[in-house]
Amino acid sequence: MSASNAVPGCTGVDHVPRGQAVDAPGFDISHALPQQGLEFVVLMYHRVAKSEMPDFLPSALNCPASRFREHLAVFKRHCSVLPLEEAWNLVRGGRRLPPRTVVLTFDDCWYDNVETVVHLLADAAIPATFFVSAGDIDREELHPNYRFYYLVSRADREQLTRDLLSMLPSSSMVPPAQAIRLRRWLESALGYELASESGRVFLDTLEQGLGVPSSGSLGKTLNMTSDQVRSLPTYGIQVGNHTVNHRQLTALDEAGQRVELAEAQRILSALTGKPVTTLAYPYGVFNDISVKVAAELGHRCACTVIQGSNDGDTDPMRLRRIDVSRLSGQELAIRLLGAAP
Ligand SMILES: [Zn+2]
Repeated sequence: MSASNAVPGCTGVDHVPRGQAVDAPGFDISHALPQQGLEFVVLMYHRVAKSEMPDFLPSALNCPASRFREHLAVFKRHCSVLPLEEAWNLVRGGRRLPPRTVVLTFDDCWYDNVETVVHLLADAAIPATFFVSAGDIDREELHPNYRFYYLVSRADREQLTRDLLSMLPSSSMVPPAQAIRLRRWLESALGYELASESGRVFLDTLEQGLGVPSSGSLGKTLNMTSDQVRSLPTYGIQVGNHTVNHRQLTALDEAGQRVELAEAQRILSALTGKPVTTLAYPYGVFNDISVKVAAELGHRCACTVIQGSNDGDTDPMRLRRIDVSRLSGQELAIRLLGAAP
C-alpha cells in the first residue's frame, strides 16, 4: 500500500500545505491495514476536548473525549499500538510488525489532552507521541491560528467578510466559509502567516474592528503547562518536536528553520529529561532544507500530513499520517480494518 497520489493533504486539518488539495476524499478504506504486518499507519489528532460542547475549533481539530474513547476501544480490540520509532525500526529492519500496527500522535499543545488522553492511554498501556509546539507551553495567549478560529467563531459572518475584504491589499474573491480554509485564504492574500509578527498586528486590528470579545488569556486554560509536559514520559508518552512558534518551515531560511527546530528540542528535552528524536512538521509543510536540518539535529522520524501508510521503503523523514479526529469509532474501525468489525 502506498500513499495516495490524488489527495496528498489530510481531510481539512490545519496541516495542509498551500496549493494542495484539501477536500476529503469521501469515505476511504484504501488505508485499511493488512494482517501481514509489513506496514503501519500513523494516526493524527489535535485536541481531544473534555467538553462535548462545540467550541471555537473547527471539527477537524477537535475530537471530543467520548469519540476518542470509541477509538480506544477499536485500538484495544483490533490493533497493536507501538511507539513511533519502534514501529519504524521494525519495518526498516524488515521484521514483521504485530498485526494492524498503528501509531498515535497528538499535535500542538492542548491542556485537555493531558486529562482526556494521557490517563486513558496509560491505563491501557498504550503508547503515543505528543508533538508539542514548545512556544505555547505556559503561554497565556492562544497560538495566533487558534486565536483566529476563536475570533471567527465569535464574529458576525457578514461583518467579518466586509472587514477582511477592507483590510486586504487587493482581493475580489469571496472568502471561504470554513474556518481553516478561510485562514489559508487570508494568509495567501496577505502574503504572510498569522503566526508572524505582521500577523499578530493584523489580528489585533481585526479583533478591534469586529468588536468581539478577545480570546485574551484563554491560553492559560487551554495550553499545556511545563509540569504537564514534564509528566508525559511517566505515562508512556513520548514528546516530539513541533517547533517553537508553529511557523511554516518553508517560509524560513535554513538558519531560521534550525532555530525553530533546535530551540524546541532544547526546551522539550530540558522539561522531559529525554532526547527529542521525532518531529511533526507544522502544517505538514517542509522542504529539503527542513529534512536536512532535522536529520542533522538528531531527529530519526518526521511526520508529514501526506495520506497513507508506511513500510520499509518509506523515507523516515517523510512519514505519512491519517487524520482521524472526525471519524466515529465505527468509521475508524472500517477505515483501519477495511470492513465493519
Ligand atoms: Zn500543529
